[in-house]
Amino acid sequence: MNSAVEEIKSRINVVDLVGDYIKLQKAGANFRACCPFHNEKTPSFMVSEEKQIWHCFGCGKGGDVFGFLMELEGLEFKEVLKILADKAGIQLPEYNPQKASSKNKTLEILELVTKFYEKQLWDGSGKDKILKYLHDRQLKDESIKDFRLGYAPDGWRNILKFLLDRGYKAEEIMETGLLVEKNPKSEALNPKQIQNSNGQNSKVTSYELP
Ligand SMILES: [Zn+2]
Repeated sequence: MNSAVEEIKSRINVVDLVGDYIKLQKAGANFRACCPFHNEKTPSFMVSEEKQIWHCFGCGKGGDVFGFLMELEGLEFKEVLKILADKAGIQLPEYNPQKASSKNKTLEILELVTKFYEKQLWDGSGKDKILKYLHDRQLKDESIKDFRLGYAPDGWRNILKFLLDRGYKAEEIMETGLLVEKNPKSEALNPKQIQNSNGQNSKVTSYELP
């Protein structure tokens, strides 16, 4: 967003913008006018082309192109940003709350699934066979926890039921890539596989497909 602001400032000259609303007179390197924000007979409103700012020596108001439109039209910054971006021919990066929330949901599900598999490893059916296997491989409990290793018991239904029971919709679960839509009987994660998230102590962002 900051780069859009800078881009707008570089494309819209404060003298042109202010000049669209009030009559400016050249005064040396600057321009001056009667202030649009307070009542006056002698001009004390100055615009500097060099600094790309405006300032009124009468009422003390001042700012850049954004501040001028906000003050004059009584608008919020984001409204002025839109107006000036249009004027400058700049496409603003669009914020899509629906997309953002679906991404959060995916991360939430993956985190939950990781916890589920971790629990299977430490307290569930993986406790005896898999934990022993990892210990035999000289992995310390600390490392197993750091790498968030888990155990996925047989059957894709386990994890699907686990998530559906927690109120997640089937399409939200599909979004995570944990299950493949064409053949929901095949869990994308290889059953019995000992898996790992992609970072130490970090949030799980995806699972590798087998
Ligand atoms: Zn003023």
